Amino acid sequence: MRLHDGLKLRLEAGGPEVVLRINRRARRISIRIDARSGEAIATAPSERRLKEAVEFARSRRGWIAERQSARPPAHRFAPGGVVILGGRSYRLGAVRGAGAARFADDPDGPLILSGGEGDAFARRVENLLRREARARLEARTRVHERTLGLTPSTVSIMDARSRWGSCTPQNQTIRYSWRVIMAPEAVLDYLAAHEVAHRVHADHSPAYWRVVHGLVGDHRPHRAWLRDHGAALHAVNRG
Ligand SMILES: [Zn+2]
Repeated sequence: MRLHDGLKLRLEAGGPEVVLRINRRARRISIRIDARSGEAIATAPSERRLKEAVEFARSRRGWIAERQSARPPAHRFAPGGVVILGGRSYRLGAVRGAGAARFADDPDGPLILSGGEGDAFARRVENLLRREARARLEARTRVHERTLGLTPSTVSIMDARSRWGSCTPQNQTIRYSWRVIMAPEAVLDYLAAHEVAHRVHADHSPAYWRVVHGLVGDHRPHRAWLRDHGAALHAVNRG
């Protein structure tokens, strides 16, 4: 039986659906809610323990339903909406034509104006935020690299399901999720420090966390922010 991609199972009529997966590196049976898809995923270390995983999921079905209903609803960028960047609220406004999204200011505060309708509008706003994310993250990456005496790495933007950033020290590349642009500035800065510090230590050892601490101080409030708000950031503009 191949279960790498997961087998979907409904626990009871009308009850929540659970995706069963086998992960041989897992040490125990576990259940989690995927931040992006909202699916409940039960993981077992082997085929032999699948039945046990189903039983475990069944015993936690109240928790699954509760967590799934607490997820922020998915929504797309649309005229009249608001997006928060670095702690500032930007109202989204439509302009005629098919022009690219851009930042603007008016007496009521900052705006993002874009052409296009429906999906096209949402896509243009996301493209602007991706460019902005790249610029801000690259700037903070350079600051931390200078502090540590490192050469500049290649920075790129992604939209990963499960991670905010990744660092490949061997070829000096760092990738960030564009969605972190919707987090407070200090959280974005922490993420840049987190990835740059991996160029010094590839692991999450105490020595690694000392490097992060030297760059941005206590990392715990930033990690807590991402844990608490990550699902909301992932719910925005999902196709
Ligand atoms: Zn890390």
